[in-house]
Amino acid sequence: MMKKLFITFILLLIIIPSTYKAKDANTLGELRSQLASYKAKQSATNSKKNQTQNEINENKNDVYKKQKEIEDNKVRIKESKEEIEKLGVEIDETKVKIEEIMRNYEKSSGDNIYLEYIFGATSISDFIIRYSIASQLASYNDDLLNDYKNKLDETTKLKEELQTREGELDKQIKELQVAIGKLGEEVKQLSDESLSYKDQISSTEELINQYVKMGCGENEAIDRCVSRHTSSSSSSGTYSGSVSTPSASGFLRPLNRGVVTSYFGYRYHPVTGVYKLHSGVDIGGNSEGTNVYSIAPGMVGKIIRRASCGGNQVFVYHTVNGTKYTSVYMHLYSINVSVGQTVSAYTVVGTVGGGTTYYDSCSTGAHLHLSMATGWYGSTYVDYSTYIARLFDPRTFLGIPSMGVYFYSR
Ligand SMILES: [Zn+2]
Repeated sequence: MMKKLFITFILLLIIIPSTYKAKDANTLGELRSQLASYKAKQSATNSKKNQTQNEINENKNDVYKKQKEIEDNKVRIKESKEEIEKLGVEIDETKVKIEEIMRNYEKSSGDNIYLEYIFGATSISDFIIRYSIASQLASYNDDLLNDYKNKLDETTKLKEELQTREGELDKQIKELQVAIGKLGEEVKQLSDESLSYKDQISSTEELINQYVKMGCGENEAIDRCVSRHTSSSSSSGTYSGSVSTPSASGFLRPLNRGVVTSYFGYRYHPVTGVYKLHSGVDIGGNSEGTNVYSIAPGMVGKIIRRASCGGNQVFVYHTVNGTKYTSVYMHLYSINVSVGQTVSAYTVVGTVGGGTTYYDSCSTGAHLHLSMATGWYGSTYVDYSTYIARLFDPRTFLGIPSMGVYFYSR
């Protein structure tokens, strides 16, 4: 019995936290723990990045050492070559000398010093001595020649060893450079990851501050708190209709005119070339600075500033026909609203950017990227993958014509 209870207890310990985690974060307290997890992930990413950077530095140092060794080797190879040449000349000279002596021995004719020396003997015994001296001289030259030849062999062998080592070092350097390249890619990816955590952290912090200002309780559902807030502010005349009471007309287009340049859905990214989900619809045909309107009444729920991919982004929460939606305006040149601000369908949330906004690497020219998702991203749920799963094509609600066909009204 006790054992069964114990097992149930352990199972609960395992199951409760995992289901708790899977649930959307929808209280202030849960949003705070989400923020803490973003921060933990960011610091883990940063320390991984530093570690990788250190690895790169070590590899670079290794390459430097090997290049230095190659340079030293080149000097030694050059010295060996010179030594080989010198030895070759000396060997040739010695050979000539020996041949001369030997020739003179054999021929015993002509005016040669050795022969003159030998035949200048005054007696038989003197002749024998002189002959012996001459032959010793020849043998000495022979030994000298052998010494030279041995030295030449050694130097040639050393030169070959140095050249083999140079080849090895070249190969190792190439391998290290490939490794450095790969690690560099990793660092770049980790930097991007860290940057996106930075975006998540700042926008979540902003959200928390806003919900605290609204007086949301730590354990109160944020949805309820936000609805409470927007209903009361609507009565103060900020806009007609409220977040909790749907607007009858549904959604309006975010621009007075425009033309679709890219559809929602899977595509090859024009900048990165990667095949992935295009999270919204791109609307061009407007110059930078053109007003972008909220597509329905609602509340600004989340703002991301100067993201390296997406630039300035405004997220607005709506309730239309009883369903919650988030609309997202990306690549903005300016942001004209603040988090927690209630907006009407005529509020300018920002202006078209993406042309000269240099920090935004994911835009090729002035356009508005509009995304729509069900639920309130940052409130009903905060998880990015949930947001991605809830995205849909904004053209289904906004009556935006096909690519290349302009619209001239909202
Ligand atoms: Zn886009």
